[in-house]
Amino acid sequence: MNPVELILKKRNKGTLTSEELKWLINGYRDGLVREYQMSAFLMAVYFNGMTRDETVTLTRCMMDSGVILDLSDIPGFKVDKHSTGGVGDKVSLILAPIVAAAGVPVPMISGRGLGHTGGTLDKLESIPGFRTDLDLVAYRKQLAEIGVVLIGQTKDLAPVDKEMYGLRDVTGTVESIPLISGSIMSKKLAEGIDGLVLDVKTGSGAFMKSLEDSRALAKSLVGIGVGFGKETIAYITNMREPIGHEVGNWLEVKECIDCLNGVDVPDLMELTHHLCGTMIYMGKKAGSVEDGISISKEMISSGKAMKKWLEIVKAQGGDVNVILNPESRGKAPVRLEIKSETTGYVAGFDSREIGMVGILLKAGRMAKDDVISPLTGITVRKKIGDKIHPGDTLFTVHADSEKPLAEAEKRLRSSVAVDSVKPARKPMILERIDKNSL
Ligand code: URA
Repeated sequence: MNPVELILKKRNKGTLTSEELKWLINGYRDGLVREYQMSAFLMAVYFNGMTRDETVTLTRCMMDSGVILDLSDIPGFKVDKHSTGGVGDKVSLILAPIVAAAGVPVPMISGRGLGHTGGTLDKLESIPGFRTDLDLVAYRKQLAEIGVVLIGQTKDLAPVDKEMYGLRDVTGTVESIPLISGSIMSKKLAEGIDGLVLDVKTGSGAFMKSLEDSRALAKSLVGIGVGFGKETIAYITNMREPIGHEVGNWLEVKECIDCLNGVDVPDLMELTHHLCGTMIYMGKKAGSVEDGISISKEMISSGKAMKKWLEIVKAQGGDVNVILNPESRGKAPVRLEIKSETTGYVAGFDSREIGMVGILLKAGRMAKDDVISPLTGITVRKKIGDKIHPGDTLFTVHADSEKPLAEAEKRLRSSVAVDSVKPARKPMILERIDKNSL
């Protein structure tokens, strides 16, 4: 087969056969299809989409590009959570220890930042010494020993996704339902789980900005999961403002430590407890999602989740002392407070723009091999519905140098909408999609 013909077929709105798709994906894995050809194909998919059959074949090819783990010898119903990507989305770091402390094994394989969204791996690696590159033997061993493990995609697991993910990040081809579905589900189906909870974001900080597109993505993801025999539930969740207050790797870890110590950051903890409750229910440690949520809260108040978090950090080589004393990790050298010049209520944010300012500050990547600055980022001091007066701090910028400050200030100021009327509060969980919704 010829890659150019397959690119042309998709560019001209055609449907690829499963043989053609397999050839293209395997050819890319083996170096026969070049990066520039895969980039063109991804753009053709971005514009013209894929049929359901094409999406399933894509997922299967990506999954089959590496090993498929069998964790059936480890007791318990193993459940993972995956988010479609958000700004300030640090939920995994609080959720994994909560769910494991409740007795449900959590084998979690996460990604790096993508586009304007942050990645769990980059956050974890801001903890000095923390290793996310465990091999699959160590992954299995830690899961068996402490019931939870948080790693990155190894070279053995859906390796084609790893390459395509990096390419999509720098070619403007992230926001595509079939590409997101294939990327997420190939990894999740390969990691040996029994069940999966999906957090499908919607709103200004999500890849899918409209509820309709988010619903289509959720249905695509759940359809694939259920089709491959995994219990799969998706929630469409609110991503109209950064989650919690912190955006940036260590800043977010610090916020998670506070939450594990019992601080209530309302939007972050509402979302976290709901996802945890669903995982605890799916893992058969609660009779309903509501009971699961109560257990999740109890894991925080009893200190069991924090204890589990310390076990994770220790097992993965991280410095436990900085978790016990977060201030000892230090701060980015330059700080800027951005103050309100008006009176009113915060009515909304362009959260994508806040994520992009994160990239400007090097809390995320512009190019595939950019090095992250672990301490930089943005603290969002006011949330939607908060009253503001002139002089109130809206954001604190944490930077490595003075250079990005002027641009960061301009962009952050324009990312906030202020109104004279207090906006209505919206819940974090907007809809549930499961096998009955398909
Ligand atoms: N998360 C992934 O793993 N892949 C995507 O494409 C988007 C979010």
